[in-house]
Amino acid sequence: MIKSPHFAFIGAGTAGLATAILLAQQNIQVTILEKASELKPVGAGLLLQPSGLAVFEHLGLLDEVLRLGAKVTGLQGQLPSGNLLVNSHYQQAHPDFYGVGIHRATLCHVLENKCREYSKLITWYMNTDIQKLEETSNQVQVLGTKDGESFDQAFDAVIIANGARSLLRPKKWVKVDQAYPWGAKWTIVPECLELDTEILHQFYDRSKIMMGILPTGTVPHEPKQRLSSVFWSLPSHQLNNFLHNSQSHSDWLNEVSKRWKPAADWLEQVIAKPEQKPQWLTANYRDVVLSKFGEGRIGVIGDAAHAMSPQLGQGANMALLDAWALGQAVQSARKNESLDYVQLWQTYHQHRKSSTAFYQFLSRLLTPLYQSDLWWAGGLRDLSFAWMYRIPYFRKEMAITVSGLKSGMLSQMKYEDIAKRNNNPV
Ligand SMILES: Cc1cc2nc3c(=O)[nH]c(=O)nc-3n(C[C@H](O)[C@H](O)[C@H](O)COP(=O)(O)OP(=O)(O)OC[C@H]3O[C@@H](n4cnc5c(N)ncnc54)[C@H](O)[C@@H]3O)c2cc1C
Repeated sequence: MIKSPHFAFIGAGTAGLATAILLAQQNIQVTILEKASELKPVGAGLLLQPSGLAVFEHLGLLDEVLRLGAKVTGLQGQLPSGNLLVNSHYQQAHPDFYGVGIHRATLCHVLENKCREYSKLITWYMNTDIQKLEETSNQVQVLGTKDGESFDQAFDAVIIANGARSLLRPKKWVKVDQAYPWGAKWTIVPECLELDTEILHQFYDRSKIMMGILPTGTVPHEPKQRLSSVFWSLPSHQLNNFLHNSQSHSDWLNEVSKRWKPAADWLEQVIAKPEQKPQWLTANYRDVVLSKFGEGRIGVIGDAAHAMSPQLGQGANMALLDAWALGQAVQSARKNESLDYVQLWQTYHQHRKSSTAFYQFLSRLLTPLYQSDLWWAGGLRDLSFAWMYRIPYFRKEMAITVSGLKSGMLSQMKYEDIAKRNNNPV
C-alpha cells in the first residue's frame, strides 16, 4: 500500500502550528518537534493584520481570534508636538479591513487547540531540540535530543520553523543573517482606557525615542482581564539596564511625560503600582534573507526564513501567509499519494517570494528612520511622511502595505483568495 508523505515540523510557533493544521486537513501525517517542554504563555502582544486574519478565516479560526483578541482599526503615531506623523486606518485600504491585537500565547493557544483536533494525524514531540538534518534522495534524517537523550528519526519531508535564531536553515541559502542594533523592552498591563482602545498608539521623537501601546485582548486563563502591551525601543546594549533602579524608573517616566503627558500619567498608574510590578521582557531582532525557501524535501518558513524588525508589524502575519502558501503548494503538488517536490517549491515561491522581498526591502528602508543614531533620520521621516499623507494614493498604499497584502511595489494579494476554504478539509 502506498502511504501519504509524513512531514516533520521543527518548531511549534505560529508558522509550524498553522501549517501542521493545513497539512493535517489534507490527510497528511505531521510530527511537530519542539524544543520547549510545554507551550508556555510567553511573549507579549502582536498585531494580526488583515493578511494574517485571512489565514485564520481559511483555517476556520477567525471567530476564536476575534473573541480573544482586541479589534484594532488603525495606527496613530504622535510626535512630541502632539501632531500625528502616522494616521493610517485599515479602512483606507478596504472598508471591511481591521487588525487584531493579540497575545502571542493566545495566538499559539488557538492554533494548538485546533492541532489537537487532528490527533490521529498530528504527533507531538516536546522537549526535543533538533540540531541537524541530513537529506538523502528519499527521506530526511532529523537528529538532536529528546528529553536529554539522543534523537534520530527519518521523515519524507522536513519544514524548518524554528524562529529567527534558527541554526538549521541551509547555509548555502543564507544571504543575510545578522542581529539588529536596536531592540525593545515589552510589558503587559491592564488595558489602557485613557487612549482609544481600537488604535495602536505609537510615539516618536526623532529616530531615538519610540514607544507603543497595543491593545492585546485577553489570555485564555484570564478571559475577563483585557490587556495592553507597552513597548519601549532601545539600542541593544542598553536593554539590560532599562529601569534597573527606582531613579531610572522616575527618569524614564519624566522623559515620557515631557513629551506625551496623558500616556505618562497612565503609565505611572499601571507601571508604578508596586503591587503589580510588571515584568519587562527583552526583544532582540534579526534580519534574515534567504535566496530560496525550499528545495527537495526541506523547506524553511516563518521567522527562520525571513526574520525582520517589527517596524511593519508583519512577523506573525508573514508566518501565517507562509502556512497558507505551503498548504496550497502541497495540494497542487500531490500526485495520488506521492508529492512532486519540484512543483511544490515552484508553487510556494510563486506565492511567497515577491511579497516577502517587498516587506524585507521596506523594513530595511524604514527601520533606521525609527531606530537609529543617525541625526538626520528622524527629520527626514517627519518631512516625507507629512508630505505623503496629503496624497490620497500614498495614504491608501500605506494602509494596504500595513494590511500585509502587498505582493510587490505595484501588486497585491486579495483577502478573499486567501480566506476561502479548500473543499476537502478532513
Ligand atoms: C518565546 C517567544 C516569545 C515571542 N514574543 C513575541 C512578542 O511578544 N511579540 C511579537 O511580535 N513576536 C514575538 N515572538 C515572535 C513571533 O512569535 C514570531 O515573529 C512570529 O509569530 C513567527 O513565528 P515563527 O513560528 O516563525 O517563530 P517562533 O514564534 O519564534 O517559534 C519558533 C519555535 O521553534 C522552537 N525552536 C527553536 N529552536 C528549536 C530547535 N532547535 N528544535 C526544536 N524547536 C525549536 C521555539 O521554541 C519556538 O517555539 C516571540 C517568539 C518566541 C519564540
